[in-house]
This record gives sequence, C-alpha cells and structure tokens, in this order.
Amino acid sequence: MELVGGRWNNWSGGVRCTPRHVIAPREEVELAAAIRTATGCVRAPGTGHSFTPVCASDDTMLDLAAFRGLLAADTAAQTATFSAATPLWAVGPALHAKGLALANMGDIDRQTLAGVVATGTHGTGRTLGSLSAQVSGFRLITADGEVLNCSADENPEVFELGRVSIGTFGVMSQITIKALPAYRLVERNFALPIEELFERLDSLIAENRHFEFFWFPYANKAVCKSLNLTEDDAPAPRSAEEMYARGEASGLLYMNTFAAINEVLPFAPFLLEWTHRLFSRLMPGPDKVRWSYEIFPSPRTVRFNEMEYAIAIEDGPACLKEVVRTIRAKRINTGFPIEYRTVKGDDIPLSPFYGRDSATVAVHQYRSVNTEALFSACEAIFRQFGGRPHWGKRHTRTAAELEQIYPHYDRFVRMRAQLDPKGRFLNAHLRALFG
Ligand SMILES: Cc1cc2nc3c(=O)[nH]c(=O)nc-3n(C[C@H](O)[C@H](O)[C@H](O)COP(=O)(O)OP(=O)(O)OC[C@H]3O[C@@H](n4cnc5c(N)ncnc54)[C@H](O)[C@@H]3O)c2cc1C
Repeated sequence: MELVGGRWNNWSGGVRCTPRHVIAPREEVELAAAIRTATGCVRAPGTGHSFTPVCASDDTMLDLAAFRGLLAADTAAQTATFSAATPLWAVGPALHAKGLALANMGDIDRQTLAGVVATGTHGTGRTLGSLSAQVSGFRLITADGEVLNCSADENPEVFELGRVSIGTFGVMSQITIKALPAYRLVERNFALPIEELFERLDSLIAENRHFEFFWFPYANKAVCKSLNLTEDDAPAPRSAEEMYARGEASGLLYMNTFAAINEVLPFAPFLLEWTHRLFSRLMPGPDKVRWSYEIFPSPRTVRFNEMEYAIAIEDGPACLKEVVRTIRAKRINTGFPIEYRTVKGDDIPLSPFYGRDSATVAVHQYRSVNTEALFSACEAIFRQFGGRPHWGKRHTRTAAELEQIYPHYDRFVRMRAQLDPKGRFLNAHLRALFG
C-alpha cells in the first residue's frame, strides 16, 4: 500500500484520505491483534481500484502486502486457496502452474482477490457468474479479532452474505476459489453498425462464451469483442512478473493518443463526433489466442472514473439505448465508450446480480473531468430500469433505496451489526449505506 506524504488515494485519484495509523501485519495472528487493538475506523484496502470511498479511513488502514500467494491447490476438486491480498496478475500464473484457471475475469488484473470478491467484480459471459460467485470459502477476522472459517458447511450464513460485503464484515485473510482446468481462448474483435448489433445481440451473447461491446456514444458503430475456447496453440504462458509488467506498460501509442484527446476534448466539444468515430475505427485489436488469464485483462493506463449498473438482462438494450439517446440529447461531453457486458445471476444477497441474469452498462469519464453531468443523467436512467450499482463504482444510492432493490438487505445489515456491533469497519460512506 502506497502513501504519498502520509496520504492514500485510490487509482483514479478521486478518493483521498490521511490515515493516522498504517499497520502492516505479517501473519494472521498479527492481523487479528491489529484489528482488536486498532483505534477509530479500520479499513483494509486492496489496490484501491474502487471509485467509491469504500477504503477510506483517516484513522487506521491495514496494509495486507504480506497476505499474498497460493496456499493450496486441489486439482481434482478444482479449487485453490490464496492469501486474500494476492493480486490477480499473480493468481493466473499460480493457478496455471497447477493446471487450473479462473472461470472468468474482468478487464484488468491489477486488483487483489479480496478486493474483487468484496465488491462482486465480474467479467462478461451469460453463463458465468461474478468472481464472488466462484468463492467456496474464506477466513474472516472479525472486529474483536475472532477468526471464522466460512463456507457452505461452516458459518454458512456469514458465508452466504459475506461473499459480497464490501469489507464491512471484517478482514478476509484467505479465500478459496473454484477453478477450471487451464484453457486457451481465441479473441476476435470487430466493429458492427449499431442497428445490426442490436438485431444480432441475443445470438452474439448466446453463441460466444464471452461477448461484450464498447459504444462511443457519438459514433454509429460499436466495437465488439468475443472470446471462445480453442485448442489452437498459444504463446508460452507468461509468469507473474511478466503479467505485472504488461499491465503497467505505459507509452503505448494508442493509449497516449487516447489520453491526449481526452485532455483536449472538454475544451473542444466540436471534436466529439470525429473522435468517437476515430476511436471506433482504431479500437478493434487483432485476433489472438492466449491462455485465459492473459487474454481477459488489458493494460488500462489512462485513468478515469466510472459508474456501472447491473440491469435485468432483457432490459439491457433498452437501457443502453436510453443512455446514448440522453448523452446525445444533452450533448454530454465524454471521450470514453460505454461498455456493455452480461453476467449470470447468483444467490449472493448483496450481489448486483442477485437472482437475475444481468446486463451491465458502464459509463466512464476522464479523471480530470467533472463526472456530474454524465453520471447523474445516466444514474437517473439506471434507477428507472431497476438497476443495481457496482459497489466499487460511483453511485449515489441511499440505504432506503438499497432496501428496495435488494430483497435481503435487512439480513445483510443485521449480520454486519452482529459481527461488528460498534461499526469499527464503517467509514462515513459505508455507515450511510449499512450502518
Ligand atoms: C481500470 C479499472 C478496471 C476495472 N475493471 C473492472 C471489471 O472489468 N469488472 C468489474 O466488475 N470491476 C472492475 N473494476 C472495479 C474493481 O474491480 C473493483 O472496484 C475492485 O473492488 C477493486 O479491487 P481492489 O483490490 O483494488 O480493492 P479496493 O478497491 O482497494 O477495495 C475494494 C473493497 O474490498 C475491500 N477489501 C479489500 N481487501 C479486503 C480484505 N482482505 N478483506 C475484506 N475486505 C477487503 C475493501 O475494504 C473495499 O471495501 C475496475 C476498476 C478499475 C480502476
């Protein structure tokens, strides 16, 4: 965990705090003692890739850098147990060495396993759940320093509710995750006119293991990406060090051009149509075959803020069309595309995908650009479509609204209060939502 001048900030720079104490326990007993004796609000950040202030604390922050690495893998049962703060760029290669792989991943691999599980982070694929849905067990250190093993058999209610808990139940020290035999994927990128995309959307989603698209809202073509299983040869698998370096690679021509245009665009709205058409043309990359953990994540070096909502899958297209219609009608300035993905429904009470197969619609704004116009216009639409916010991405929902959109919200809040009666894991943002 990196502090600059005593200050912590998230990836986008939009969330900042100045913790009075930073504690870096080396093992679980030290972690339990640190939690028991810490003063004020205690937060354990992952790598700070959430856009919401879920990690912020001006009191105590826990640095879990020592909680990394593969602890056990059971190839027959296809499960693996990791120290909770293992970054995803290290998870893929460690599983691969055991002949295993995660069933799905999101756009990047910079986050920690605990961080993605805590917020219900997801990739795309109609038949594939979020990373939280792949969890089969975890060890949780509660506010009084007690260590709980949580799974379908032990502390089953904490397990059921705690797979998406935004770090409010305690600190996870280990996570056991379901895996698949290692596999290769072929990636295809192509642009489609918007009308054709919507005509073919259901079959594109049904016929590809993973399908997603990016729509620059002032362009009339979408950039589509599919991933499917293949037996074709892939280059030699990358090591954890190589995966780390790849994700940090800066200075790529496309990224530099994208950043430069995003610097200029707020002052040159007349360039919107031109840049959106240009990026729709430039964005589709070449087809390729890679081991799964290499092909899911891409480097994301141009920083932004993001809002993403999960909508019932059948309402996804109408919701997206309304988002684009509104952006155009209000002439909202953004240099980023809208990302559209699908996620299988799950049984995790506070998961955005609880009880329904979902489409996710994500809007982004360059990090130095005010997000208000774009995010408030889009959130009004997401609300109208019964959307549920991604916990790590910007939203303004209140506790009263969450109670309406999550049938088991009350159970979650009761369990949180039982595990942490004094609310030591709550900062102001979390207290307003779950206190
Ligand atoms: C460039 C970029 C791309 C992204 N792509 C995707 C994507 O494709 N799909 C998607 O769904 N999301 C995506 N996200 C969002 C991101 O995956 C989530 O915000 C995720 O939670 C970040 O993980 P992190 O390790 O940085 O956790 P943080 O943001 O640091 O923390 C998130 C939450 O996890 C909790 N937490 C962390 N460690 C522990 C622990 N040991 N025990 C208990 N709680 C803990 C924290 O307290 C906090 O509440 C993206 C974000 C960025 C910046």
